[in-house]
Amino acid sequence: MTEALAGLGVHVERGVELMSFDQDAEGVTAYLCEPSGTPQAARFAYMIGCDGAHSITRHGLGLGFTGRTLQQNFVLADLDVDWALSDDEFHIFTSPEGLMAIFPMRHGHRLIAEVPAPSRDSASDPTLAQLRELAGQRVATAISVANVRWSSFFRLNSRLATRLQTGRIFLAGDSAHIHSPAGAQGMNTGIQDALNLGWKLALVLAGQAPTDLLKTYESERYAVERAVLRNTEVLTRIVSLRAPILRFARDLVAPRIARMDFVQTAARETISEIAVSYRRRGLHAKIRDANGLVAGDRLPDLAIEVDGNGPARRLYSELDPTRFTLLVLTSEDASSIDAEITPMLSRQIAKLVVAQLPDSGPHRSHDEWFYLVRPDAYLAVHGPRSRIAQAATWIELGFSG
Ligand SMILES: Cc1cc2nc3c(=O)[nH]c(=O)nc-3n(C[C@H](O)[C@H](O)[C@H](O)COP(=O)(O)OP(=O)(O)OC[C@H]3O[C@@H](n4cnc5c(N)ncnc54)[C@H](O)[C@@H]3O)c2cc1C
Repeated sequence: MTEALAGLGVHVERGVELMSFDQDAEGVTAYLCEPSGTPQAARFAYMIGCDGAHSITRHGLGLGFTGRTLQQNFVLADLDVDWALSDDEFHIFTSPEGLMAIFPMRHGHRLIAEVPAPSRDSASDPTLAQLRELAGQRVATAISVANVRWSSFFRLNSRLATRLQTGRIFLAGDSAHIHSPAGAQGMNTGIQDALNLGWKLALVLAGQAPTDLLKTYESERYAVERAVLRNTEVLTRIVSLRAPILRFARDLVAPRIARMDFVQTAARETISEIAVSYRRRGLHAKIRDANGLVAGDRLPDLAIEVDGNGPARRLYSELDPTRFTLLVLTSEDASSIDAEITPMLSRQIAKLVVAQLPDSGPHRSHDEWFYLVRPDAYLAVHGPRSRIAQAATWIELGFSG
């Protein structure tokens, strides 16, 4: 990521600490300090606090971090496991003391287990001996544990900042929300915060969008973050059930349900968060298309035939993360669409892709539709081909209408 950023001309200054900040109508002053240096003021148009759960940005803004500390205690460890079970699957072991999960990493394995009572050792990290004992008790097969590279006891918090935007300052990632790792969604939620905010800030800074566009960061992401907290709390309660009858029901039913195709698809889409939709949250024209897509949905990575020739390509390979993409599904010639659209819509703000859908697939290829796709691959506005001018109008009206 550091190299990719450098390729875009962005240099990461490691070890530089944000000490304090203030903001006014024109910008943000951040007081930054290099190791063993003195704080120096630097001026920015906007600031995003991606400074983790103990965020100085959130504290400095005086924002609350509402929620609770969950009861359960856990251990987490990166180590090597030797056993007869497969190393390309996720294994969960249930026991009266709580669940243990072991899953393969690129190097070695990760172990996570609930520890039933607050541990007296929780001030220090779990030792190899403790992890061996735990694995021996919980894993229903012979297991050898070695090479602990990192381990920790932890308790879970489920908390959400009271706001994501205060003037010119935003919160993203763990500074805005922390929750149970059940569901493994912490990092994805933060990445999607950044993806949602990044293109909006870029357009505003380039003078191509009104500053009000930035307000949709909070209106779109807040509900998603609240749902992630709710879902991970429910999941944590399920994995931590104490009552024997409920545990029995869970252990009997969960493996059967988890094997079903539709459950696996739903789990994959939920955990990866590609099923997140921003319908009804501000930025979109409320149109439903003949193929079931609604503005605010993430556009699927369809197979498309660009300009009617060549093999099918993936739609995502045609999207441009720095601009909108105007996808026009039509049998018309690309140059005629281009001639029609060019006077209305600047290429700086939208790339034009004229394509057809291959005959197979869920979408009807004879439908002639336009899709204005946001830089983060969400659908902004769409409609029948005959109403293509709406795409330009929507942008002209400041991303609404
Ligand atoms: C036990 C555990 C298990 C987890 N498992 C998963 C999982 O399986 N899947 C998943 O997706 N997520 C998981 N997560 C969550 C995931 O690790 C976090 O959601 C993610 O790392 C958050 O990224 P972030 O960049 O927002 O914050 P962080 O990773 O906390 O990064 C914040 C950065 O800001 C820096 N910083 C802080 N203050 C300052 C300052 N004043 N000046 C300059 N820099 C500062 C910090 O040094 C740090 O580098 C887990 C978390 C925990 C605790």
